[in-house]
Amino acid sequence: MRIERAGVLRAAEIAEPSPGRGQVLVRVHACGVCRTDLHLLDGEVDIPRPPIVPGHQIVGTVIARGEATAESEALAVGARVGIPWLGWTCGRCRYCLSGRENLCDQARFTGRDIDGGFAELTVADERYCFPLPENDQEGSAGAPCRPPSNLQVAPLLCAGLIGYRALRMTGDGERLGLYGFGASAHIVAQVAVFEGRRVFAFTRSGDEETQAFARGIGAEWAGGSLERPPEELDAAIIFASAGELVPAALRAVAKGGTVVCAGIHMSDIPSFPYDILWGERTVRSVANLTREDARALLELAPRVPVQTQVTPYALEDAGQALADLRAGRLQGAAVLEVSV
Ligand SMILES: [Zn+2]
Ligand SMILES: [Zn+2]
Repeated sequence: MRIERAGVLRAAEIAEPSPGRGQVLVRVHACGVCRTDLHLLDGEVDIPRPPIVPGHQIVGTVIARGEATAESEALAVGARVGIPWLGWTCGRCRYCLSGRENLCDQARFTGRDIDGGFAELTVADERYCFPLPENDQEGSAGAPCRPPSNLQVAPLLCAGLIGYRALRMTGDGERLGLYGFGASAHIVAQVAVFEGRRVFAFTRSGDEETQAFARGIGAEWAGGSLERPPEELDAAIIFASAGELVPAALRAVAKGGTVVCAGIHMSDIPSFPYDILWGERTVRSVANLTREDARALLELAPRVPVQTQVTPYALEDAGQALADLRAGRLQGAAVLEVSV
């Protein structure tokens, strides 16, 4: 499934990719659908060289290797791997050399610059792939699997990673607000509760179904995004792309509180009185992920244990998955089930 240009996602037959130096060829089992894919489709996030195969929460199996390099991680053929949004960085710039490869100006991203996982096969730089514990092949229909199934683990690779990075940026505040309770928030809420925090969930006004979903995952309060929570928050993460949530969240956090914007795109933020920023409140964004974030979350997730709620779609129904995500018609994460 390729994005040909803004607004156009189509099935296409393209040549099988072949792995170059330091790359692996991966058979895709599952690929999570992210709000970023929607922004790419809508032209809100630029695709430098369309057409592109989107999809950056890939779970697959290595089926071939390109020529090894000195830096190769030597992922064996047959290994189960996760492929995230961060697909390549220069390794030499000021950002890369200071533990901030997520900010590298030369970075290439899976599903934006590099063909991603809305496909049967994909190629990735093995240094940016993560080995995953072997799948027991029970799938999501049987008893709970351990390690998690391909479908269950896919949302960790962006929704989980970006959410986890955003959570780290909130410091150690106890009362955490989550604005937009979708794929990321449903994972972050579980990690936050595990860490002993109290979660307050904000959804579209009147979306009682999502509010009930949030409470079921451990939120002690859930309400509309412009409502005031029952007490002040220590921090808030905004996953929704609506700029008006920034002043709303600032009004909800206590002095010294942090508001983290976790999306790649947001509509303009309306002007707001200095009063609601005063008191050492902070507004910041989170951009992309580092490989260190991924290692940390993949190590933490089984200990929580994070249990993702997944709605599966066939590969050719990627457009429907994106439409359902846009309309808020699903709880948790949408995942394309590509092959067993
Ligand atoms: Zn760099
Ligand atoms: Zn994403």
